[in-house]
Amino acid sequence: QVHMVTVSPILGQKHRAVLCVFEDVTGHEQVEQMRRDFVANVSHELRTPLTALLGFIETLRGAARDDAAARDRFLNIMEREAGRMNRLVRDLLHLSRVEAEERIRPTDPVDPVAVVQSALSSLKPLAEAHGVMLDLKTDSAPRSVPADGDQLMQVITNLTENAIKYGGADRPVTVRLSREVLAKGPMLRIDVVDRGEGIAAEHLPRLTERFYRVDAHRSREKGGTGLGLAIVKHIVHRHRGTFRIDSRIGEGSTFTVYFPEL
Ligand code: ADP
Repeated sequence: QVHMVTVSPILGQKHRAVLCVFEDVTGHEQVEQMRRDFVANVSHELRTPLTALLGFIETLRGAARDDAAARDRFLNIMEREAGRMNRLVRDLLHLSRVEAEERIRPTDPVDPVAVVQSALSSLKPLAEAHGVMLDLKTDSAPRSVPADGDQLMQVITNLTENAIKYGGADRPVTVRLSREVLAKGPMLRIDVVDRGEGIAAEHLPRLTERFYRVDAHRSREKGGTGLGLAIVKHIVHRHRGTFRIDSRIGEGSTFTVYFPEL
């Protein structure tokens, strides 16, 4: 937007001039709009389980008071809804922490093999519950990278958890570590590969947006918060890395992250 002000009434007829002020209101308004959307989304995501909890409390006080079987069933649902709120708050805290540190580039060397092994062993119970076999492949001996170890772990955890949840039962998930030289220099490359149903091309550019889901019902059913890939994107950005998604309908998806070695 351009603001035009004629200065002659202020400075007198001698100074016939027009002052132009260029203001990038689009950027500012877009940021404001994104902030408003985010607050609305968070409120909605929290309100849904909260409404369910309040409803069940009321039912437990009334109709289900003397029905032990119903009470157990409702308590299970309440536990699930409270768990959902808990995960949402946890992911919101992760996201805000990563954003707050985004300008500080980590420098401590981290061994990627140890981090991946630790992430995969924590995910073993989830993989078993889905009948998924987790497979770790290291193509060439990966070198240490300057990283925040917890955040590198979170990237691998979020991507592998998605591969398990959306990759389809009884299909293996492979995490591959390798080295690759990109234009930016030598990089650690991590691929998380699933053989699930894949993601249609039109969704790919939006997947890292907060709360964007291909199928909201399915994501909620699987305990998703819609923030996992947004967190991954911010962590990769903080490490000056690269994030890529390749997916084919009916064949599966590969999520690739690169972390600079130096
Ligand atoms: P969520 O908590 O919903 O899993 P994410 O940010 O981790 O949120 O992922 C966003 C969406 O991307 C998911 O809801 C899902 O629709 C899609 N998605 C992520 N990973 C995969 C995958 N491996 N296969 C298919 N779809 C995926």
